[in-house]
Amino acid sequence: MTEYDIAVIGGGPGGYVAALDAGMRGANVVLIEKDRRLGGTCLLRGCIPSKTMVRTAELLSEMRHAGDFGIQGTAEPDWAGIVARKDKVVDGLSKGVVDLCKARKVTRLQGTGRLLTPNSILVQGNAEFGGMALTVRAKSIILATGSATILGTEVPGGDSPRVITSDQILDADLTMGAIPTLPKSMVIIGGGIVGMEFASIFAAYGTKVTAVITSPRVLRNVDEEIARRFAQLLKAAGVEVLLKSNVQEFRDRGDHLDVVIQTEGSAEPRVVSSEYALYAKGRKPYTDGLGLDTVGVRTERGYVPTDSYMRTNVAGIYAIGDIVPGHMLAHVASYEGEVAVDHILEHPREADYRAVPDCIFTIPEIASVGLTEALAKEKGIEVRVTKFPFAALGRAQAIGEPHGLVKLVCDPGTRTILGMQVMGAHASDIIAEGTVAVQQGVTADDLAHTMHAHPTMPEAVQETAIAQLFGTPLHVNTPTRVAR
Ligand code: FAD
Repeated sequence: MTEYDIAVIGGGPGGYVAALDAGMRGANVVLIEKDRRLGGTCLLRGCIPSKTMVRTAELLSEMRHAGDFGIQGTAEPDWAGIVARKDKVVDGLSKGVVDLCKARKVTRLQGTGRLLTPNSILVQGNAEFGGMALTVRAKSIILATGSATILGTEVPGGDSPRVITSDQILDADLTMGAIPTLPKSMVIIGGGIVGMEFASIFAAYGTKVTAVITSPRVLRNVDEEIARRFAQLLKAAGVEVLLKSNVQEFRDRGDHLDVVIQTEGSAEPRVVSSEYALYAKGRKPYTDGLGLDTVGVRTERGYVPTDSYMRTNVAGIYAIGDIVPGHMLAHVASYEGEVAVDHILEHPREADYRAVPDCIFTIPEIASVGLTEALAKEKGIEVRVTKFPFAALGRAQAIGEPHGLVKLVCDPGTRTILGMQVMGAHASDIIAEGTVAVQQGVTADDLAHTMHAHPTMPEAVQETAIAQLFGTPLHVNTPTRVAR
């Protein structure tokens, strides 16, 4: 029996990147994935399909303002076309991962992996072996089995087919059956990233969206000022936002749902009729049937804790991605995969989470890295915050995207950049500059003295750096607020 150097269980952005990285560096690797396709949540029912739908939403929003740009005519969403484009993009990228596995000589097994010992895995249902079980041996094992959506069934009536999760909207195997036509109305439960991205998407498609949010504000982990500004834009896009509210019950009426919503301070619950309810209350780590108990891998609230080299408590077994406590993000999963492989291949480096970029693909986008003003206060760190509005930026005006701003959080003494937040067009691209700055300990002086191409959105970043030096940016007349 072949003994592999590394066996990876789970073919998402954590697992497949670990396998490709190890294969590229000459290790003998096997990648075990139970899905018929590679790519995991990110590629098949998360990041990529949702971003194709956001793109359509952005185009529609832009086209509704086409008159402002000197273009006549109207545009209407075509649900079948939106779904078909999503599936085409996903399919191409997933096939690309398969091709890369072949090129890196990564052995791919389609089946469900279960740990037997710290060096062996039972792979069940491998199609190439006619559904037979197969035992795989490996010197090191990387667990990358990801996460699953929390279902609406935790609320009475949540087993109705009209109560859906992001999986039913995005996963090609579920999409058309679950939502055959563009919904006229949708209640979205959850004010986090997934809930708010879909609120932006469906509002732009013309769906009547009601967002039911437990906390007193949307996006509670985002900088307060940015979240407040975003909430205003969301309302302007037609989304009704119910804060401090919870769903008590779903009542399936055949052709629609009655969603019973209780808002804090209201005597009576309110009933909102809707075609669908999207349950977006978060995700949980997925380790079902993985055999963690069999080999003694420790878990905490369902997650698999690791040290900074991604080692679990069992020698030779590593864990990465959404099953590890911390950020549930695709690029964090990939990064952790590379850290685990580095340790296995004896080039150890510790995982460093100081500069994790966090992007929210709402309309407009929101992105953040490092410290926010609130987080600094919570940690007792003194900071100076400067900001620059996109309204004062030539490029933002030219492309018709004046909403938004950049905020820069620095150490007031050394002017070292500790964090950056951006809301507005291309925020998810602009944040890359902040990520490098935070990771590399760049100062505001460095950024202020770095030439930024004109006219571009990142000029706003340079302006916030200038404001750190002089108390005001160059291109606004009134000094920006300098908070300590
Ligand atoms: P997963 O991607 O969940 O992959 C785990 C894989 O393991 C799956 O393919 C599963 O089938 C397989 N598996 C599980 N158990 C077994 C087993 N026993 N044997 C074999 N295979 C098994 N993140 C971002 O960074 N940016 C975004 O824009 C973004 N958008 C998102 C949008 C949505 C709607 C959702 C739901 C998530 C989004 N995410 C985003 C989060 C991102 O998708 C996850 O953080 C990422 O996929 C985690 O990667 P992973 O490899 O840890 O796990």
